[in-house]
Amino acid sequence: MGSIMTMGEILVEIMACRKGQSLRSAGPLQGPYASGAPAIFIDQVARLGQRASIIGCVGDDDFGWLNIERLRSDGVDTSAIAVCKGAVTGSAFVTYRDNGERDFIFNITNSACAQLQPEQVNQAVLKDCAHFHVMGSSLFSFRIIDAMKRAIEIVKAQGGTISFDPNVRKEMLRIPEMREALSYILEFTDIFLPSGHEVTQLSRCADEKGAIAEIFSRGVREIVIKRGGQGCSYFGAGDRLDIAALPVAVTDPTGAGDCFGATFVTCRRMGKSAAQSLRYANAAGALAVASQGPMEGTSGFAELDALLARQDLPAPDRATQD
Ligand code: ATP
Ligand code: MG
Repeated sequence: MGSIMTMGEILVEIMACRKGQSLRSAGPLQGPYASGAPAIFIDQVARLGQRASIIGCVGDDDFGWLNIERLRSDGVDTSAIAVCKGAVTGSAFVTYRDNGERDFIFNITNSACAQLQPEQVNQAVLKDCAHFHVMGSSLFSFRIIDAMKRAIEIVKAQGGTISFDPNVRKEMLRIPEMREALSYILEFTDIFLPSGHEVTQLSRCADEKGAIAEIFSRGVREIVIKRGGQGCSYFGAGDRLDIAALPVAVTDPTGAGDCFGATFVTCRRMGKSAAQSLRYANAAGALAVASQGPMEGTSGFAELDALLARQDLPAPDRATQD
């Protein structure tokens, strides 16, 4: 089986220790933690024992090496990560509101993340890639969008499949070229992994049901909707499956969607059924929210099986998509 690959931002995350803490005044912070949505995704793939690789850029600094060493030790092939001299590794500072929402101060567009070069995406780098994951958050420059399109075309031409987590900020959707790029990526997508509110973002229909029908008509084969503490839903080949979230104590929600998506994609590639893949993905999301730190909640099958065995769960409700 070929490898699963992704491309995009590799960051450190530094977070407030207390809820309600503001970055307008001094206070206790924790980190740096390895982070970046595509980095978390690929770490989770490797934790599940699959061959995994990421194309990206870090600076030649401690933040960059922290990430490379972490990914490597979890089994990710880091040979496609460029270490850019003269650029600083990306970072995110996170604070938590009392209502559970998060605020971020990002240094991405002026960091090494933005140094990704089109030459990093080529046939040699992608030759072993059987599945490529596109993270919408990575598409913050037109150069990166072009590189992403190139990666998709190479992987598709060699018979590979594509997954896409839109994960886009609303401001990005207001830029016509950005909407066009996201729409282009959707045309090539096999597995679409939106959060609940994102399902309708790239379609003409304002309701979920209509948007799902429209997305299928564009060639997408499976849609998995992440619903945070409400669980998740699967749509594919006339089937609909819904699973409730596992009852875990929420410590830090960052990274749940990435662990979820990586687990679903990996399980499907391993030949597991949609229902089994969804159950594992739901468990991976739960373990992610239960751990402090964006990449600290990644998990292997042993941990996922242990969580699923601990819970007394009903089989997922199965209903035909109407
Ligand atoms: P992000 O806000 O980082 O983009 P996301 O929207 O991509 O996240 P979520 O829906 O927050 O992803 O989480 C992904 C999955 O993780 C959920 O579908 C669910 O399976 C699991 N999950 C999320 N929050 C919880 C929770 N509070 N308790 C249990 N499981 C959860
Ligand atoms: Mg998301």
